[in-house]
Amino acid sequence: MEKGELVPDEFILKMVASILDDEGDNPSFIFDGFPRTIHQSEGFDKILNERNMALDHVINIEVLEDEVIKRLSSRWSCSNCESVFNTISNPPAEPGICDKCGSKLIQRNDDKPDTVRNRLSVYFEQTEPLIDYYKNKGLLRSVSGDGGPESVFNRILGEFSKSGN
Ligand SMILES: [Zn+2]
Repeated sequence: MEKGELVPDEFILKMVASILDDEGDNPSFIFDGFPRTIHQSEGFDKILNERNMALDHVINIEVLEDEVIKRLSSRWSCSNCESVFNTISNPPAEPGICDKCGSKLIQRNDDKPDTVRNRLSVYFEQTEPLIDYYKNKGLLRSVSGDGGPESVFNRILGEFSKSGN
């Protein structure tokens, strides 16, 4: 993860299976950022089939590449309490200082521009193919990721009300 690469698929799939098994019969769940590769999606389908479960929706939040780089490289974290700030959407009251504990803010390796660019190339290579994978299954709903979390959330709700679910 330090280098912007992904955690091994088998490890993730085992974790997902054990989460589902802990939830009892007919669990409701949302996975955020999983699956990230075709191999994970196929493993996930197998896990679901074995448990007689099915996905209702797959949401694809669309954000332009430049905007992703801008948003991610604006993240700063507290060196002490790990609070996260964003110089664009959630700036600290005093630049470089944590609002909660007054410690210095640092940029995690994950959020430095070079790592962000590497994370994006991993996305295009390994994750973007999932759009077609789920489109072909008739599960995909794409919404614009423009604006703040509330606008995006409302767009997602709007997609659900279209389908009557
Ligand atoms: Zn802090």
